[in-house]
Amino acid sequence: MTTLHTYDAVVVGAGGAGLRAALEASRSVDTAVISKLYPTRSHTGTAQGGVCAALGNVEEDYPEWHAFDTVKGGDYLVDQPAAQLMCTEAVDAIIELEHWGFPFNRTPEGKIDQRRFGGHTRNHGEAAVRRACFAADRTGHMILQTLYQQCIKNDVRFFNEFYVLDLLLAEDGRCAGVVAYELANAEIHLFRAKSVLFATGGYGKIFKVTSNAHTLTGDGLGVCYRRGIPLEDMEMFQFHPTGIYKMGILLSEAVRGEGGILINSEGERFMERYAPTVKDLAPRDMVSRAIYQEIKEGRGIDGKDFVFLDVRHLDPEVIEKKLPDVTEFARIYLGVEPTTEPVPIQPTAHYGMGGIPTDLDGRVVVGPAEEPIPGLYAAGECACVSVHGANRLGTNSLLDIVVFGRRGGADMARYAAESSLPEAPEQPERQTVGLLRGLLGGTGGDSVADIRAELQEEMFDLAGVVRREDGLRKMQGLLGGLHDRYGRVAVMDKGRVYNTDLMEAVELGFLLDVADTLVATALARDESRGGHYREDHPLRDDDSWLRHSLSYREPDGSVRLEYKDVKLGPYIPMERKY
Ligand SMILES: Cc1cc2nc3c(=O)[nH]c(=O)nc-3n(C[C@H](O)[C@H](O)[C@H](O)COP(=O)(O)OP(=O)(O)OC[C@H]3O[C@@H](n4cnc5c(N)ncnc54)[C@H](O)[C@@H]3O)c2cc1C
Repeated sequence: MTTLHTYDAVVVGAGGAGLRAALEASRSVDTAVISKLYPTRSHTGTAQGGVCAALGNVEEDYPEWHAFDTVKGGDYLVDQPAAQLMCTEAVDAIIELEHWGFPFNRTPEGKIDQRRFGGHTRNHGEAAVRRACFAADRTGHMILQTLYQQCIKNDVRFFNEFYVLDLLLAEDGRCAGVVAYELANAEIHLFRAKSVLFATGGYGKIFKVTSNAHTLTGDGLGVCYRRGIPLEDMEMFQFHPTGIYKMGILLSEAVRGEGGILINSEGERFMERYAPTVKDLAPRDMVSRAIYQEIKEGRGIDGKDFVFLDVRHLDPEVIEKKLPDVTEFARIYLGVEPTTEPVPIQPTAHYGMGGIPTDLDGRVVVGPAEEPIPGLYAAGECACVSVHGANRLGTNSLLDIVVFGRRGGADMARYAAESSLPEAPEQPERQTVGLLRGLLGGTGGDSVADIRAELQEEMFDLAGVVRREDGLRKMQGLLGGLHDRYGRVAVMDKGRVYNTDLMEAVELGFLLDVADTLVATALARDESRGGHYREDHPLRDDDSWLRHSLSYREPDGSVRLEYKDVKLGPYIPMERKY
């Protein structure tokens, strides 16, 4: 049985981007949020380090310096008008959060305190600047709580533990709604809407060692991709330098922002060699590659594949007051006491710069000519407006979700207020029912867990921090085999109540599709830029590659590539040195 719902605006995802969009839309139109998780369990809640804005509260700073850092940090693949807009609107976005009761850390005079973060500099690279606003190391948690409270106040309607599995496009090309599966009872729900905004977060679970939650499986990307919408810049994935060794759990860059350093087996602070100006606060892609290089040259600790993060020299009060959760993680997961022992770390898959292409108002746009799909929006980590280019700066994602969540929410409400409800296509739930029947119908066959583990392990090795043509070709072959096995997958639980096995099988399908696009685009891009490092093509090549990739799904499941220009601006591409 299918239950029908009708709203003006439907937001898919209840992380920071979804909640900020819903809050904005609900000021003028009837708004619902559909989320596979309870809102406050969204990954935004795990963000530790901060959200940045050039407030200039503790040091001189300007939005223009912030925009420069964002463009340079993104290795010039950033669309400069988007970065300039984000960095300018950042100041208001932070003050707005403050007015909603966000408990920022304060300076002694009572202003919002700010700390250093990688790649954020004074006067175009002169020295590191204090730009990140924070609530201890629980910044994302506070953003989620603050926005959720505001949404409840605004009567946003929440559908929690509902998985959106399909997007509906009307015959005239407008977005007509989404189809969702209710976890508690296996019911199918049809949400008709005038506008829909995807805010489904990241897809780090394509990799074995990752800071991402179990649920970050690229669902929104997969749903759109299967409906013919391209994905932008999928080769650009960020590895964060300081994941807990083997587990990938994140130790925030705030640790280095507060003065922590990286050391190799010789006790050397090796970042001084790689980035003499900002050292340990170089952008993440550079630090992750430096760690890889140290390990490759035999300076990993005990000859193994990790180095140390060291905070022993810091004032214990700074550690207790500003980094309580991070230090607790080291104690719990590693049994290491950070005040007296160095902490073993390795790069961990962290953030997807690529995603569903949008314009500055969150409208999903298709192709090099950027044709909008009327009524369809995206914001947050699942989207690519391209403010992060080839490498995101720390604290710019929490900023992205509030700035572009608000803009997307405002425009989806404007559009909904002006539009009629599109006709849903015939048998709108057909594709979803077919997908679920296929997965439940299998007997014997392969297990979801086995296919997923192989995908994650091989992706981490062959399409991770360092890539080569032969490795990527091998991965492409392996993906073909994994798709075949997925076609015969067996979901053992055939029940209708909380069938999480079935949903994990659906999520694996999205992971495989997303991995296809990442590998195809990484193979094509025979240069190195930001998070995409090709050992066989180590230099950046602006003549051939100053452009965004677009991946389309062909009917046979293969990936077709297209490219569009980067929107340049005042910052002329130059060599990236720190
Ligand atoms: C450990 C960690 C620390 C971080 N620290 C920082 C930091 O300090 N500063 C910073 O700027 N960035 C940080 N980041 C990055 C940043 O937190 C994320 O990029 C950002 O919060 C993503 O927000 P979002 O709203 O796009 O998605 P999320 O917060 O991930 O929310 C996704 C939402 O989509 C829903 N969803 C997904 N699929 C479906 C589906 N099929 N149907 C229905 N709902 C669905 C989920 O239920 C969830 O509500 C960190 C990330 C991690 C992993």
